[in-house]
Amino acid sequence: MTKRLIRVLFIASEAEPLVKVGGLGDVAGALPKALQEASRGPSCSVDLDVRLCIPFYSCINSEKLSLQRIDKFSIPTKKNPVPGEIYQGSLDGLPLYLIKGKPISESPTIYNLDTEKDGEKFAFFSLAVLEFIRNSDWKPDIIHANDWHTALTLHCLRIAQETEIVFKKIHGIITLHNLPFMGAGTEKALAKYQITPSKDPALPEWAKTLPLPMGLSAAQKIIAVSPNYAHELFSAEFGNSLQSFFKANSEKVMGIINGLDCQAWNPQSDSKIRQTFDVSSLDKRIENKESLLHDLHLDPDNKIPLLVSISRMDQQKGVDIILAGLQKIANLKWRAVILGSGNPRLEKAVKEMEKKHPDRVKAINRYDPTLSHRLYAAADIYMMPSRYEPCGLSQLIAMHYGCVPVARNTGGLHDTIQQTNPGRPGTGYLFQKADAISFSTKLSTAIKDYKNKSFWQKIQVKGMKQDFSWQKSARAYLDVYSELS
Ligand code: ADP
Repeated sequence: MTKRLIRVLFIASEAEPLVKVGGLGDVAGALPKALQEASRGPSCSVDLDVRLCIPFYSCINSEKLSLQRIDKFSIPTKKNPVPGEIYQGSLDGLPLYLIKGKPISESPTIYNLDTEKDGEKFAFFSLAVLEFIRNSDWKPDIIHANDWHTALTLHCLRIAQETEIVFKKIHGIITLHNLPFMGAGTEKALAKYQITPSKDPALPEWAKTLPLPMGLSAAQKIIAVSPNYAHELFSAEFGNSLQSFFKANSEKVMGIINGLDCQAWNPQSDSKIRQTFDVSSLDKRIENKESLLHDLHLDPDNKIPLLVSISRMDQQKGVDIILAGLQKIANLKWRAVILGSGNPRLEKAVKEMEKKHPDRVKAINRYDPTLSHRLYAAADIYMMPSRYEPCGLSQLIAMHYGCVPVARNTGGLHDTIQQTNPGRPGTGYLFQKADAISFSTKLSTAIKDYKNKSFWQKIQVKGMKQDFSWQKSARAYLDVYSELS
């Protein structure tokens, strides 16, 4: 079989292991590699040449990347042009481009509270991507953007296509990880870099000057990170006032679920946990629970269900719902560990809950990857009452580690968790409304079911046996690339 060559430039604001702040970094780190692997299979009709391009932040350790400067350029602005450089290297066999320039190196953190700084940085990066393509012998067939930070590349590509033949045949697609973050506060940067507003009549007026909607409008495909989140974009609850735009463009909206890095998250070989285990040795799991209860100075009774949450302290994640829900079932026996940092108000509320129930609640306000592995491997129930959840990674990890999720029936949670009904094990528990009553009612059902050991083990095993690998998602993305080019 002769394979068809498709060249893809994958652009993002972060990518593991170079730089990671959140879930986007996981995806941009894992998906290009999974795409490479999927296209190497003998049954795949695509010969994929995928290359990753991210900003060259000062925190990136470039030692093992074999970097070489391949181009110098300058991006015109209203006043003086801003110079930049592009470096080429390799990340474990994946071709890599890093874009350097003052707006990137002078930014103190990857994302700033000062949205003007971020606007400047990502406007510069987005235009630099096009400048690189203009000058390079290697031209992509597809530019694959991610979220608002790189959405402007697609908008500016559209404009450049009107006059520059070099861009004519390039397709633009965007993966949507988080709709509410649209790039507000970037007006000055857009003006400075002379990026003109979108003229798309399907966009509301306010959205025509925001990077994400501008990119969504220019993209030929909008891929939400789960099919159900794609569906939710059409609703007033989740559409963030762009639902009419999505409806008008429904043929280009779709969803592909994110995968899980099954090497980093493998209970059979995880060096961060006390006792490794798999589906056939679930009983060993209890050792993880006992050691954790001991180390956190919680009641050592291992028969009491251990509930955990590991997340950013953010309204989105429903931390307040967890606290109010636990309060409602204070009469039941449970222990809870809440790990997370972020919003100081929520952090304080969690600490107060701990003070109120020192014997049964542990609040840990920090980012602690090692502890997170131990919690997934030890806990019985994972609490995830998200107000919205484009895909969600925590529930995938939890199920992979035999920790049963109790989650809101929204976004990717709907797609990845199968409901448990009386006498019929699923892979977790789903509830409808983002409120304490709905959450605590479902949680108490789970706590009751937990006492039935054989039933509970069926839920755990079913969850652990699901295929959350990136390969499945990569094949779906390959189909999109094939369809476009
Ligand atoms: P989001 O990307 O919206 O923050 P996800 O559920 O998709 O949420 O992914 C969150 C990831 O970050 C998970 O891997 C979770 O374990 C991890 N995480 C969140 N908070 C912490 C923390 N305080 N310590 C360690 N890991 C954390």
